[in-house]
Amino acid sequence: GDESLATKAITYIAINDEPIIPVRANIGTLADAENATSKTEAVGVGLFRTELLYLNSKVVPTVDEQATEYASILAAAPQGPIVVRTIDAGSDKPVPFLHMPHEDNPALGVRGFRLIQDHRDFIEDQLKSLEIARVKTGREVWVMAPMIATVQEAKQFADLARSLGGYKVGIMVETPSIAALIDQLAGIVDFVSVGTNDLSQYLFAADRMNANLGALANHWQPGLIRTLARIADGAAKGGFSVGVCGESASDPAFAVVLAGLGINSVSVSVSQVGAVRASLSALDIAKAKEVANKVLVATSPEAAKAAALDALAQL
Ligand code: PEP
Ligand code: MG
Repeated sequence: GDESLATKAITYIAINDEPIIPVRANIGTLADAENATSKTEAVGVGLFRTELLYLNSKVVPTVDEQATEYASILAAAPQGPIVVRTIDAGSDKPVPFLHMPHEDNPALGVRGFRLIQDHRDFIEDQLKSLEIARVKTGREVWVMAPMIATVQEAKQFADLARSLGGYKVGIMVETPSIAALIDQLAGIVDFVSVGTNDLSQYLFAADRMNANLGALANHWQPGLIRTLARIADGAAKGGFSVGVCGESASDPAFAVVLAGLGINSVSVSVSQVGAVRASLSALDIAKAKEVANKVLVATSPEAAKAAALDALAQL
């Protein structure tokens, strides 16, 4: 990664009471939800990774069991919307009760929403359980599906979710194909959320688990930043909101760039909420756009990062 980059310590001095875009928390467990509430000023949850509940489960949880567990997590989560992702098993996250067959290229295999092929019942049970938990807790729940590659898949998920509950419905943007089609999601989704971890993996054809390819996974790569700009433009054109919930948003300087590109919210690990809130409270949206415009013309990750840090150091 970043070792070759000049690192500058920037102190962010708040000029706003609130960050220029909402900072939500990423959670996977009840403990995460409780920590996000007690230890941070996060506004809601931007990514609840439900599969993390099931990495050791050999038996399929019933609707009752799921509804009870989801309700306790929704009740403990910080105030604001709670974005729940349907199961994202496969690739690096096997879930025992799904008995997923061996694949030669699991990152390119039947993972995420593609599991609807063989596990429609489980995805439906999740959505039903979330509806029970939503009604019980009175919380604002948004549901989204991972690993969507086509508009047809987005529509399939949206139709299914809207038939089963009263939540807002969206998809994750993790594949280059759907990133190219964002405006075509108008009228289908209420929101999208960009998973930059997988989006980088698939844009750069670089396995996110392979430490030898860390330079390509760097979120300051111009190819990722230009793609994020196009996604933000597509969402604005389509008239729905766009968040970023991948690890890139946990970098305080990068979160400013995201806001400047037109991203409407970020969701970050619990430990990074304070730092990201600080950078996003230190400037106004016009200044964030200036920073983003400088970053957008950079031709290397080093130059992109330096452009952002230079602009932020002059605040
Ligand atoms: C992502 O891909 O950026 C993401 C948020 O999902 P996960 O890291 O769980 O694959
Ligand atoms: Mg992902």
